[in-house]
Amino acid sequence: MSEFLTIGEPVVTFMSKDADASLVDTINYFKLLGGAELNVAIGVQRLGHTTEYVSRLGADPLGGYAKKQILEHGVGTTFVTEDADNWTGFQLKQMVTTGDPQTFNYRTGSAAAHLSADVLDDVKLDDVKIAHMSGIFPALSETSNQAFRHLMDRLVAADKLITFDPNLRPALWNDDERMIREINEFAKSADIILPGMNEGKILMGSEDPKDIADFYLNQSDRTKVVIVKVGPAGAYVQTRDAEGFMVPGFKVNNVVDTVGAGDGFALGVITALLEDKSLRSAAMRGNAVGALQVQTPGDNDGYPTPAQLKAFYEAEGVSED
Ligand code: ATP
Repeated sequence: MSEFLTIGEPVVTFMSKDADASLVDTINYFKLLGGAELNVAIGVQRLGHTTEYVSRLGADPLGGYAKKQILEHGVGTTFVTEDADNWTGFQLKQMVTTGDPQTFNYRTGSAAAHLSADVLDDVKLDDVKIAHMSGIFPALSETSNQAFRHLMDRLVAADKLITFDPNLRPALWNDDERMIREINEFAKSADIILPGMNEGKILMGSEDPKDIADFYLNQSDRTKVVIVKVGPAGAYVQTRDAEGFMVPGFKVNNVVDTVGAGDGFALGVITALLEDKSLRSAAMRGNAVGALQVQTPGDNDGYPTPAQLKAFYEAEGVSED
């Protein structure tokens, strides 16, 4: 088994080739693979750590494509099962020259939404050092919600280090009150929480990083660290017993697509912690991977190898401790 574990739905993306065209007018698309939790697994693997991804794919061409891609990235697929009755989820995505792209999802009733809790009993946790949980998977269906809870319970019982990204997707939850209640409840089981500043506004009514961190540190003894992502400005780190501090982001002149920056941030933090780096270095690595990712069009193609990360740090004149 691997050092890193996550559970989620891979999303096959059909990305418009026509810059700034609406999804209604676009005719030409290219195909790529994303999905928040898979992005994190791909990036953790690319930085030299072993990973295991739990998911469920349709027995269809998109499922075949996703499986091939996941294998090519070297991510563990022991628990990527096949579903003969349901399709692999996909999305249409705009190509934009500035700002956030428009996306449209076809994932209701997908194969991953049928991933049930019983599969998770076979997942061995002995070697897992960090498990990354995100608020997307429990929003897919009642079945995935139960599966997510079951894995979370097993991780807590085994006292594994859990990172949690709220990854708010109101369109998937279709019930804002439930979304807020459940995301904040899941956060109670996490050791490290990685919310975005805008998510704070929805989840506890403030986008002040200190308020967000205080809220999560106060609601559960288990939560030891909150790192709030503040976009290009970087990240705010707060622990239970010390003053919070900002770790500044890196300047990027050519922002191509911001999708995948938050996942990049998470994998930067996770890999740095797997390598016993300080929290400051973990947040700096998160900022570095986020900055590299916003310069590329796909969801995970900007994530660095160890050599690329080293070259980036050298060019920026910074180093980790
Ligand atoms: P998303 O869910 O859209 O990926 P998020 O809200 O989870 O985003 P962001 O704060 O947008 O996360 O981005 C994560 C990290 O990526 C930031 O903390 C920052 O370090 C880096 N980043 C994002 N945008 C930029 C940018 N324009 N320039 C430099 N770094 C950026």
